[in-house]
Amino acid sequence: MTTANTARAASAAGTRRDSQLGELQLRGVSRDYGTHTALHPLDLTIQGSEFVALLGPSGCGKTTALNCLAGLLPLTSGEIVQDGRRVDTLPPEKRGFGMVFQNYALFPHLTVRANVAFGLKMRGMGKEETRRRVEDVLSLVRLSEHAGKHPAQLSGGQQQRVAIARAIVMGPPLVLMDEPLSNLDAALRLEMRSEIRRIHQEFGLTTIYVTHDQEEALSLADRLVVLHAGRVSQVGTPAELYEHPSDTHVAAFMGYRNLLPLTVQSADAQGAVAEGGGVRLRGTAVGADQLVAGQRVAVAIRPEDLRLAEEGEQPIAAAVAEIVEYHGRVLHVEAVTDEGVRLHLKSRRPVQPGDGVAVSVDAERALFFAVAGEEGTS
Ligand code: ATP
Repeated sequence: MTTANTARAASAAGTRRDSQLGELQLRGVSRDYGTHTALHPLDLTIQGSEFVALLGPSGCGKTTALNCLAGLLPLTSGEIVQDGRRVDTLPPEKRGFGMVFQNYALFPHLTVRANVAFGLKMRGMGKEETRRRVEDVLSLVRLSEHAGKHPAQLSGGQQQRVAIARAIVMGPPLVLMDEPLSNLDAALRLEMRSEIRRIHQEFGLTTIYVTHDQEEALSLADRLVVLHAGRVSQVGTPAELYEHPSDTHVAAFMGYRNLLPLTVQSADAQGAVAEGGGVRLRGTAVGADQLVAGQRVAVAIRPEDLRLAEEGEQPIAAAVAEIVEYHGRVLHVEAVTDEGVRLHLKSRRPVQPGDGVAVSVDAERALFFAVAGEEGTS
């Protein structure tokens, strides 16, 4: 849709397209459960109209962070400041944030229209204004023709759109979404993903979205906050995280399926050479510190960057293909070196299980992370 069309649609729907929020600051926000710190002090500034995804594996503290923002959990320390005003001391209803969760929690005995109108009625809004706002929002989420139905008569995706309509009809400064698509099947998840992005843009929302699904986060968000064990690993745009993950946790999340435990043989300003387990390769160091010989590293490489070596090219490893999966034009291959290092790669050339393969990678596509403790031994 062109900008003019979007503006027309938004104005036809009577909705505003400017964010209600200027800036939201989390300053040292933390949360303990007893002696367990689920969220270490988190500093983050969210700009109005931004779509921010909190991404990380199960138990990393995403929901805790979202619930602290919503006011459902008191902070252990820190403060939340919305446009210069402290809000963490306010109860959830006074913050006025919209919330969308994976279970839609719709009222089963009310129609779609009445579900969406519920919050406005509670707020004491007049009948005519309520009707106008509800119709506007139902049109935005493309549910006008289902307005008279009950939730049980709708598909999962439609029910989730009712939940979104109910959250945004109040004109919230911030919308919080916690894994809203996880109860939907794969096809519907994809469809709802673009719906959520469209609604975010057309309604001028500021959205914080919790997910453990890296693809969902990359495709939806302007910025990602990757959490690991209650701490922020990295904050950045999808491209920044994808191209320059700051540690192995982020790399693993961004699809660097190969995390090879190697030892540095030599290092210079351009990079380093490392080997181990039948693999020897040149790569690029991540982080400010120069690598030194003898240092253990985890080398992160995406399967699409690891390939069968060309004629005359020096391979990084000789391995035997163990598992070959057909994925249309490319094959996904798992090959194992004599010394047991498993390599995940993609090939456009035919490979059969049991074939010997010579594997190669470009040095700039192999990222070296210095290893402390037990990391990098996968
Ligand atoms: P998931 O994706 O599985 O929902 P998450 O990243 O949202 O995980 P949280 O639910 O925020 O993780 O939990 C963070 C940590 O805090 C976990 O170690 C969890 O076990 C712990 N935790 C969460 N809620 C409580 C609670 N009420 N009491 C004690 N510990 C809790």
